[in-house]
Amino acid sequence: MGQTVGFIGLGIMGKPMSLNLIKAGHSLTVFDLNQDAVNTLVEAGATAAKSAKEVAEQSDVIITMLPASAHVKAVVLGENGVLEGAKEGSVIIDMSSITPDVSKEIALVAAKKGIAMLDAPVSGGEPKAIDGTLAIMVGGKEDIFESVKSVLYGMGTAVTLVGDNGCGVTAKLANQIIVNLNIAAMSEALVLAAKAGIDIDKMYQAIRGGLAGSAVLDAKVPLILDRNFVAGGSIAINMKDIANVMDTAHEIGVPLPLSSQLLEIFHALKVDGKIKDDHGSIVRYYEKLANVEVKRS
Ligand code: NAD
Repeated sequence: MGQTVGFIGLGIMGKPMSLNLIKAGHSLTVFDLNQDAVNTLVEAGATAAKSAKEVAEQSDVIITMLPASAHVKAVVLGENGVLEGAKEGSVIIDMSSITPDVSKEIALVAAKKGIAMLDAPVSGGEPKAIDGTLAIMVGGKEDIFESVKSVLYGMGTAVTLVGDNGCGVTAKLANQIIVNLNIAAMSEALVLAAKAGIDIDKMYQAIRGGLAGSAVLDAKVPLILDRNFVAGGSIAINMKDIANVMDTAHEIGVPLPLSSQLLEIFHALKVDGKIKDDHGSIVRYYEKLANVEVKRS
């Protein structure tokens, strides 16, 4: 395939994404603090590196898929980090969901060393990461985007250049408002229907083809009815995103009344010990208020 690819951050999302790159024929060098995750990739054909710096030394394209802004800063700009090892002309693709400010700051530092960066966060969660059908929203220069597009298509089916550096992560913040407020709206409706005593599964089948139907409804209602709250997208990660949404919105003068309510709901769920659960757990906040459980009849 020509380009050698490095992958740092082999978690819920990074592991299946990197496995798909191997399946697509890319030669991969990987690093993670979690040795078990590294071992899984090595068994699939990847080469293990001892640091982010070593990944960068071995790669033309260096992908990061890390929890939050601080992790990406440390891995790219820190000691033994990507910029210590990256060759001039290589490209960093940060696929983590971080703040536009931090993303643009890292891109500027990298550019001074002749290294380009794209922000390319994803939507679709673990199932689409496994299937290789993620939606990928990209920020950066068009020529750089074109030069690594085939790598991105190894992980997703909808790959869109939104604008310059920071535009991808900004689109992701908007995406997270829509997804999480959808889950909250759906939860209010499900709890109302449960307390009214109607068959939730039948109601779901009745409404999913109409205007209330959505990818969120189809992804979350079956899991809620199964009482399955194992995280694809955890409360922790979505709470981080909505906190980033609020910081960014206030910085540029945008009041977000519904998103601020959502942040409080996430705080309540955290206090209730549900921080590691899926964001479908928003329904359990509403269940507590109404003293009812959404389940199959
Ligand atoms: P995760 O916590 O499962 O994985 C993160 C990985 O990064 C872990 O394996 C961890 O060991 C590794 N890591 C942390 N610090 C490191 C360091 N200094 N050096 C090397 N490795 C390090 O997180 P995830 O769910 O895979 O999410 C990753 C990113 O993708 C986040 O920004 C998240 O918001 C975003 N995202 C997640 C989902 C989802 O459904 N899980 C969906 C879309 C986007």
